Amino acid sequence: MIDFQLTEQQTELRDRTVAFVRDELIPLEHTGEPTRVDDEFRRELVALGHAAGLVAPHAPIEWGGLGLDHVSMSEVFIAAGYSLLGPLAMNCFAPDEGNMNLLSKVATREQNERWLRPLVAGEIRSCFAMTEPAPGAGSDPRAMQTTVARDGDEFVVNGTKWLITGADGAGFAIIMAREADDDSGRRATMLLADMDTPGITIEREIATLDRSFPGGHPVVRFDDVRIPATDVLGEPGRGFEYAQVRLAPARLTHCMRWLGAAIRAHDIATAHARERQAFGKTLVDHEGVGFMLADNEIDIQQCRLAIWHTAWLLDQGEAAGRESSMTKVLCSEATDRIVDRCQQVLGGLGFTHETAVGQIATEIRAFRIYDGPSEVHRWSIARQLGRR
Ligand SMILES: Cc1cc2nc3c(=O)[nH]c(=O)nc-3n(C[C@H](O)[C@H](O)[C@H](O)COP(=O)(O)OP(=O)(O)OC[C@H]3O[C@@H](n4cnc5c(N)ncnc54)[C@H](O)[C@@H]3O)c2cc1C
Repeated sequence: MIDFQLTEQQTELRDRTVAFVRDELIPLEHTGEPTRVDDEFRRELVALGHAAGLVAPHAPIEWGGLGLDHVSMSEVFIAAGYSLLGPLAMNCFAPDEGNMNLLSKVATREQNERWLRPLVAGEIRSCFAMTEPAPGAGSDPRAMQTTVARDGDEFVVNGTKWLITGADGAGFAIIMAREADDDSGRRATMLLADMDTPGITIEREIATLDRSFPGGHPVVRFDDVRIPATDVLGEPGRGFEYAQVRLAPARLTHCMRWLGAAIRAHDIATAHARERQAFGKTLVDHEGVGFMLADNEIDIQQCRLAIWHTAWLLDQGEAAGRESSMTKVLCSEATDRIVDRCQQVLGGLGFTHETAVGQIATEIRAFRIYDGPSEVHRWSIARQLGRR
């Protein structure tokens, strides 16, 4: 049975997160032209998160997290997302949060001691290397060009990845590569490798529109990278299966964080609309503006309900692939609409960095593309309808 009543513990944690973000993080937000968050600042933020007892709410207690289930995470992540600094301070930002989840489910105890424990503590960052420049893997992972071949007790990886969030400065990578002798594109292997492993090179930084992800989204080359068999994640050949283990919850946490950011934009726009006068009354009293803000409220409510439902399914042990797809499309498009309306309500101010709305608008756009573009999710849902 789904229950919309938060428990005392959930309420306490949500309220503590709200206060942490409001009192400690928002005052640290950069005003003016956004700059890329560097690792020194990230570490300062994580120290604040530790002091508040709010680091890695999603990660298992055994590995240093708070061990929340998905429903409990929902309100906490939404509250964290209210500032773009929240997920960094609480060490629940992408791609690390999804990587922690994957490792905790698939990695061996030794691998987790080596990589997961320091990752949960925020001592290191990680990256997830799947996408490749054309004609390689993107929406269609079977187009993967990066190969892995076994050589005795080692696996040898060759290929180029791009748009790899956080790669510059990451401690390690989860690399997805197809088996060299498999032409079907169906057998892929995931491997763990420290970023200073010989043969791994950050080829170049890509100038992207966003700024909030430490380590950017660079091009990464793998030239004869030799990885011991002990550092394969799970079993060879099951990479696509593990990608699904990572994806459904990771999509949902993106929905939570970006909903938090959209709510922030909505609060700023609403406050502005209550103050600013035009044609003898406040903006909010003009129907055109009031309706935009009302539409925001409707979108926020729908996103929250869809997130909660998918979170609940995941907590019941369901894969929830279809629901997470639908929620991802709904939230990525609705939060985009919300923030766009906020910019409109703010008038010229909405096109500046005088408020947080400008940066949120820039950062949120890519969510309709990564973790599956909207069109690919629709295509996949439609295909399932065809098969039924
Ligand atoms: C900010 C950002 C961060 C990222 N971080 C990472 C990361 O950390 N690791 C990583 O591996 N990747 C990452 N990516 C890459 C991201 O996952 C890919 O961009 C995404 O999967 C789409 O692949 P593509 O760019 O190759 O687009 P393509 O596959 O070339 O698709 C282009 C467009 O074609 C359309 N399209 C494709 N297939 C279909 C279909 N079946 N039906 C209808 N339309 C379709 C869609 O509109 C799509 O947007 C990131 C991307 C961004 C923008």
